[in-house]
Amino acid sequence: MVLMSFKRLLPALLAPALLTACGAAGGEADTASPHVVAAFYPLEWASTQVLGDHGSVTTLTAPGAEAHDLELTPRQIASLAEADLVVYLKGFQPAVDDAIEQSGADHAFDVGGVVDLLSAEDGHSHDHGEEGGDDSDAEEEHAEDDGHDHGDFDPHFWQDPERMQVLVTALGDRLAASDPDNSADYASNAATTVEKLARLDGEFQAGLAQCERPEFMTTHAAFGYLADRYNLTEIGVSGVNPDDEPSPARIAEIHKEAQVHGLTTVFFETLTSNSVAEAIAGDLGLETAVLDPLEGITEKSPGDDYPSIMRANLEALRVANGCS
Ligand SMILES: [Zn+2]
Repeated sequence: MVLMSFKRLLPALLAPALLTACGAAGGEADTASPHVVAAFYPLEWASTQVLGDHGSVTTLTAPGAEAHDLELTPRQIASLAEADLVVYLKGFQPAVDDAIEQSGADHAFDVGGVVDLLSAEDGHSHDHGEEGGDDSDAEEEHAEDDGHDHGDFDPHFWQDPERMQVLVTALGDRLAASDPDNSADYASNAATTVEKLARLDGEFQAGLAQCERPEFMTTHAAFGYLADRYNLTEIGVSGVNPDDEPSPARIAEIHKEAQVHGLTTVFFETLTSNSVAEAIAGDLGLETAVLDPLEGITEKSPGDDYPSIMRANLEALRVANGCS
């Protein structure tokens, strides 16, 4: 069913260590094993969990790169046509959408088709820059939202462990369909991963049940799903690209919000500079701390995989919000 092309063989020969880490040790030539291309980190993590000992996963968003502003190399674009399954979120990364359209990949899995996405307006305004104005369906239907890169929805669903469970279950089904010989393993791996995510969800429920305040302040408004699930309120400093400076008017509003709600902390993300957070915190005598949006893992991340970083985020929130 799967043709082992030279392009796929070459990285297999050059990167045995990487393949070992993916659980494909000694199986480089196993053409029956599915190769998954994941668009960004949480999709990579979910794919790796469900594949278990089978197949391999590569990620389009390199560690440390901004997921939103992703640009693809010709080699990455070619890899889409060769993959057995491409896992992505349509409307989040325009470069990936374009590449999938170009390659005519009929094995592309848009996770937005199975995960319930929140509108960008539900929690915050979330505008990551000026690559908007592409011709995606969502933007055609919502021309008034042309300031949003990702059409009209908030892409950061992976901040909700329950939505991740939905994704993992759907991934198990997709992989079982593409590699029926191992379908029992994918079903079992998916079930185990769902259990892990349910445990994580339980820790968030318990850890955030009794807090002095529900509001938390972030520079990158990437936590709308987390806020929605655990009854918190995210106050995004600038609903724009994390690198952009908020306007003086927005800074004034933020000062007021912080005082009204008795905030202790301004959260910034790991992949971008914390100068905005430091400036605001300095004005108000607040702390700064990391809340990781999980868009990519680096050595600066407060953990080395999805569950450990989620738990680090939970602890940071509990401290900032005075949770008992
Ligand atoms: Zn983001």
